[in-house]
Order: sequence, then structure tokens, then C-alpha cells
Amino acid sequence: MKLVSTRDSKVTIGALDAVLKGISSEGGLFIPETLPRLSEAEILAMKNLSYPELAAEILSIFFEEIEKPEMLKMTKSAYASFDAPEIIPIKKLEDNLFVMELFHGPTLAFKDVALQMLPRLMAKALEKQKTKENVLILTATSGDTGKAALEGFCDVDRVKIVVFYPNEGVSEMQKLQMVTQEGDNTFVYAVNGNFDDTQNGVKAIFTDAGAIMQIIQKGYVLSSANSINIGRLTPQVVYYFWAYLQLVKSGALKPGEAMDAAVPTGNFGNILAAYYARAMGLPIGKLICASNSNKVLTDFFKQQNYSIKDREFIKTISPSMDILISSNLERLVADMVGSDAVVRELMQALKNQAAYDISPYIDKVKAALFYAGWASEPETKATIQEVFEKNGYLCDPHTAVGVKVAKEYMAETGGKTPCVVASTASPYKFSGDVLDALQRQTAFDDAFLQAEKLSDVSGTPLPKKISELKQKTIRHTGVIEKPDMLNAILADI
Ligand SMILES: *Cc1c(COP(=O)(O)O)cnc(C)c1O
Repeated sequence: MKLVSTRDSKVTIGALDAVLKGISSEGGLFIPETLPRLSEAEILAMKNLSYPELAAEILSIFFEEIEKPEMLKMTKSAYASFDAPEIIPIKKLEDNLFVMELFHGPTLAFKDVALQMLPRLMAKALEKQKTKENVLILTATSGDTGKAALEGFCDVDRVKIVVFYPNEGVSEMQKLQMVTQEGDNTFVYAVNGNFDDTQNGVKAIFTDAGAIMQIIQKGYVLSSANSINIGRLTPQVVYYFWAYLQLVKSGALKPGEAMDAAVPTGNFGNILAAYYARAMGLPIGKLICASNSNKVLTDFFKQQNYSIKDREFIKTISPSMDILISSNLERLVADMVGSDAVVRELMQALKNQAAYDISPYIDKVKAALFYAGWASEPETKATIQEVFEKNGYLCDPHTAVGVKVAKEYMAETGGKTPCVVASTASPYKFSGDVLDALQRQTAFDDAFLQAEKLSDVSGTPLPKKISELKQKTIRHTGVIEKPDMLNAILADI
């Protein structure tokens, strides 16, 4: 599939090459020039496929260079480590409200779904390019991407990966998962600052010709495992098809009938994948964009104005959504305004004035596909408790944000359309806060004791990945300042 840059439509690239390149040289993101539309019959024909089979079908649409049998091998091995037989279980909370559990991979967060595929796509891209260079993966993380990328790329040939996370910006369990990462090719640093500082630091390296030169001189080409990489986005499109087909199979949806999708959102990758699935013909009604107290996206959809001016970065119990500059939104903006010149202008305004106004350009029909809402911290906690007590389901704080906004939308509209909430992390990654929400917090500040307690309180089993973590040695202890990120990288390669 041919992709173009959001900031310069003359820049085109094949999907597989874009996986290696990550971001376009002038700072734009790669988007499909056109998305093929599947018919209702074509979609329903995939009803009985297993998850890896469905993934092979959908991913082959994007990566035409990879033959379908080969793609199937890749998807099968990518999802072999998931601890649920269906890979992505769909569970019913109540009438017309479902969750799809995306967190059964090695790091217990939805990022695994894409990050178990990305290294395999990258290996194919390297093979095709016949390059002799090594690849350096640079990643900024708000908690879950980092660990999932480290797991995905651990001991992959000709690849080194450096992960930066905001010191104090991630949960104890997330931090432990990262600092205990094994593999000779993995490097992890805490950066003094918040996620946006960390992400901006990484973005600056990607667009700094001098930095890129120094990295090339060491024999590495730069690539990214962040959700701006098209190799991250495409595997996420698959599970919306999956959810839809499972609901049809179970009779919760009639064939052709629309479902809504509610997504706890940070960098706008997950919900953009739903938007792409819809553009490919999947009957999705509303795209429900759920934010935490960092509700820049809620305001964006309500006011058609993206502004981080005077907006304080708020640390919440859903840290993977603590983001003010939502990178993937640029892809939606590009689609809604339909002009690279306008995207350039808007992104320049974001950089210079910390805001942009999209209202003069917006495609009203496309904008109306979205419903946006947010959950405050008390609302998030109340939702965790309510869902546990009323629906018998234990959800993590990110998922709770999604459920809260989904329920709000359903209450406003009568709740006649089945709605699937993306459940993005295991509650065990955030045991302390979940216990607190259930009003069962104890004096423990040890993340493992909290996880054990949560298992007792909820009657759900402690995931093996959590208990195993306890035995692991801490290997990565570096804490650095933002201006030292490049030097840290150069010392490692
Ligand atoms: C990354 C993440 C999100 C946000 O997803 P985006 O694609 O960045 O919008 C939500 N929940 C969890 C648990 C995450 O790890």
C-alpha cells in the first residue's frame, strides 16, 4: 500500500519501507493514500477465522509485499505468547456493553498486540531492503509502550533499542517491568520530566540532522516503535474487525448492524485504528474518544480547537493516557482537512502558539463520527468500583475511563447500539490504585503485595507475568536530564 506524508503529499513510501523509516523526514506522519473498502460479504466471510488468521488477512491489505502464508506465520508466532486461547477475549458487562481484552500479551497491556508484530514487520523490511545497517529503535514511553517494545525487540538480530520513560511518570509495576528487562540489546533510562518532555526529546533527535549523522556514523539507522509507526497502527486495526465478528457470531449484533467503539485514548493510536477500520467498511457507528483529566482531546472535539496553552499536565492513575500532545491526531487532522499545506500550517501553530484552530477547515461529517468525553480521578475510581460490584468485572484505571465515557454516551443516546470498550491493561499493572478504588487499600506500598491483595479481594488469579517479575534483577538504573538523551544513546551503540 502506498503511503503519503501528512505534511507533504509529494513524499510517498511503501508501507513496509515506512515501518523502517517511522516518521517522514520533514516531520510528517505516513498515512494511506486511500484505504480499500471491504464489502459486508467480504467482512462476514472472515467470521470463522482465528485471530492470527484474521490478522493475516487484514495486514496483507496493508503490506502487499508479504505473501499471505508468510504473513500468517508471522501473526501466529506474534500471538503465540498471549495467555488467552482466543488471543483477544470479548466479555459482556451488561446489555449492549462489552469489553475487548487487549491485554493478554507478555506485558499485560494492549501495546503488545502491535509490538509483537512490529519487529517481525521490521525484519521483513530489512530483508527486502538488503541493507547492511543495524537498526536503532528509539522510544519514549508513558509506561506501556516501553516495556512492550523491549519485549518485542529483545535479542532481535541487528537491532538495539533505547527506551526513555518519564521518571515518576509511570506506575511502580510499569517501572519494574522496564528496569528488569533482559537482553544485551536493550537500554532503558528514566528522564527527569513528564511524558511530553520525554516524547519531545525523542522527536527532536529524529528531526536533528546532526544527531542522525552521529548515529549513522556508528552504523545504525534510526527507527521508532512509537505509535506513530505505521507498523504499530496496522495490527490495531485488526481487533476492531475481530470484536465485530465475535459479536455477530454470538448474536449480539445482526450482520451489517453497527457497533460503537469506546477507546481510552492518549496518543490517539488505538482510536485512529478504529477510524481506519471504519473507513475500510467495518460498520462502526460512533467512535467514542475517552480521556482522563488531561482532556485536551475532549476539548478538541467539542471546540474544534487543539490547545495546550495554559494547560497543566496532570498526573493521573491512568498514566498511559497522561499526554497533552497526541501525536497520532495529526493523521486524523490530515484526513479531515485534506490538505498537506493546512496540516503544515496547523502543526506550525501548535509548535509556535501551543494551539491550532481546525474549525475553518474541518470536514463536519467526519468530525461527527466522534463523541468525546472524559473521566476525572474520582469518576475513574467510582467506575472501577461500580463495574466490579454491578458487573462483576475488574477493570484497570485506563479501561475504567473508557467504560465511564461509554456509559455516559449510552445514557445520552438510549444505549440501543452495542458498544465495545477497548480494555487496554490488566488491573494487576495498577493494583494499588485499583485496590484504592475498591476501597480496599492497605498500608502496603509494595507493588507485589498489592497485586496479591488484589487477587484475594477480587477472586481473580494473579497473572504469571507479575509473579515472575519478583524474581528478576534490576538491570537498568540510569536517570538522566532531557538534554542528555542523545549522549546516552551514543554511549550505548
Ligand atoms: C497506550 C495506552 C493507552 C492509550 O492508547 P493510545 O493509542 O496512545 O491512544 C490507553 N491505555 C493503556 C493501558 C495504554 O497503554
